[in-house]
Amino acid sequence: MEYYDIAVIGSGPGGYVAAIRSAQLGYKTLIIEKYDTLGGTCTNVGCIPTKALLDSTHHYSDAHHQFKEHGIKLEHIELDFSQMYKRKAEVVSKNTDGLNFLMSKNKITRLKGTASFVNNMTIRVTNDTETIEVTAQNYIIASGSKPSTIPGVTIDKQRIITSTEALSLEQKPESMVIIGGGVIGVEMASIFNRIGTKVTILEYADYLIATMDHELGKNLQKILKKEGVDIRLNHSVYKTQNTGSSAQVFFKDKNGAEETVEADYVLVAVGRSPYVKGLGLENTDVQLDDRGFIKVNENNQTAVSNIYAVGDVIGGAMLAHKAEEEGVFVVETINGQKHHIHYNRIPSVVYTWPEVASVGYTEEYLTKNNIPFNVGKFPFSASARARASMDTDGFAKVLVDPRYGEVLGVHVIGARAADLIAQGVIAQEYEVTAEDMFRISYAHPTYSETLKEAYLIASGQGAINI
Ligand code: FAD
Ligand code: NAD
Repeated sequence: MEYYDIAVIGSGPGGYVAAIRSAQLGYKTLIIEKYDTLGGTCTNVGCIPTKALLDSTHHYSDAHHQFKEHGIKLEHIELDFSQMYKRKAEVVSKNTDGLNFLMSKNKITRLKGTASFVNNMTIRVTNDTETIEVTAQNYIIASGSKPSTIPGVTIDKQRIITSTEALSLEQKPESMVIIGGGVIGVEMASIFNRIGTKVTILEYADYLIATMDHELGKNLQKILKKEGVDIRLNHSVYKTQNTGSSAQVFFKDKNGAEETVEADYVLVAVGRSPYVKGLGLENTDVQLDDRGFIKVNENNQTAVSNIYAVGDVIGGAMLAHKAEEEGVFVVETINGQKHHIHYNRIPSVVYTWPEVASVGYTEEYLTKNNIPFNVGKFPFSASARARASMDTDGFAKVLVDPRYGEVLGVHVIGARAADLIAQGVIAQEYEVTAEDMFRISYAHPTYSETLKEAYLIASGQGAINI
């Protein structure tokens, strides 16, 4: 039987970051992954391939709609769908190669196979050729999540698909219905709408990306609608059917009025569920909550003190960087170090164009909880940088405590919002005031100036720049 200090199950952002930190701290480390490549959902079928396609389709869309105004004439703009997908696959490979390199550089032992607990102390790793028993002082479960579905909708991976299958299509679909206007829904809608697929989003809630500040979803809805996406809010899907060459979706509005729509593909994006299948948790004392997530305490410890869990499998925000933070946190906790994750200061980003990014409290939360706040909001249309690049959609909004000026929330929809939000995270993490934020110098012209103006407005001063 092989022995390790720390054995990590799953090689997504939670797992691989935990393994690297573990090796850096001198622990004999093992990482187990059942798939051939490392990187989990994020690297293989999540964050990375979607961003590669979002970038490619953004260029394609600009070539069609913006180049002319920039004075660039193109005669024949043609979509090479296979090349677009080939490039996406190459981007993924470069990332998985990078992970292979990091594993060897840090002398982390890698086992390919499914890890299953035999008891609280031992796991069995099984692959096509062998079964090995391993014991570790500590285990970190980072087994991630899988797409969920809803009653009446069976994902057959042929016509009724998830984001995973959408990332390996062989031809551009002519039409697609997306169930769910959350993060996956709007990112996928952007990819396909930009290349000419007729996209319909059916969303149950009153807003797109409904967990974020509602003004962001409202603005995004207008932008996507202008670009041609058919968005049906307040509609719930209750059945889908594969007809062979297409798929039908049956849905109803809030008054119960029923409708049907047909498309080449139906993409189900109604959330993701914890992935615990095959882990053998029934052989341990690890407990699950009523939604199937692994229960952990404030140290990410399960009911078994030497079995920890991180990332999507424990719930909370299903984000790569949240999983990474937890991976590092657990290893450093095992190492006796003390720090803390501020979950409210983990940013959320949606990679549509413009991008949407958020950190801290939403207006809805503050209002509901009777917490007073000032709003500072500045439109991208008033930014010189945004005008230069023709990216004038969106706004930067900051929510500030009226008494002490503490920054309570930062919400941006606009060009490069994904990068801008880092500044909002710093403001909140270090509890600097809105005045501190507007008194620092912002390079001109930059998109970041929209935040400076928002801080000025929230502090009772007028905007001073363009
Ligand atoms: P995962 O990445 O899911 O990795 C878990 C790994 O564990 C898998 O490789 C699995 O094979 C392995 N495993 C499971 N059970 C076993 C076992 N018994 N033995 C061995 N191996 C096992 N997040 C962002 O922050 N930004 C984004 O832009 C973003 N885009 C996304 C786009 C899409 C389409 C999707 C689906 C998700 C996206 N996410 C994004 C979410 C992000 O991918 C997840 O939050 C993140 O991957 C979670 O990391 P994890 O380590 O918890 O699990
Ligand atoms: P989500 O929770 O963001 O959205 C699911 C949506 O489906 C919700 O808006 C919900 O109201 C809707 N819905 C549920 N049942 C419905 C029904 N019967 N009819 C119509 N609509 C219905 O989940 P997702 O978009 O599947 O994404 C899963 C996870 O992946 C998210 O937690 C997200 O954090 C993560 N992710 C992150 C990124 C990113 O960070 N950029 C990108 C993609 C995915």
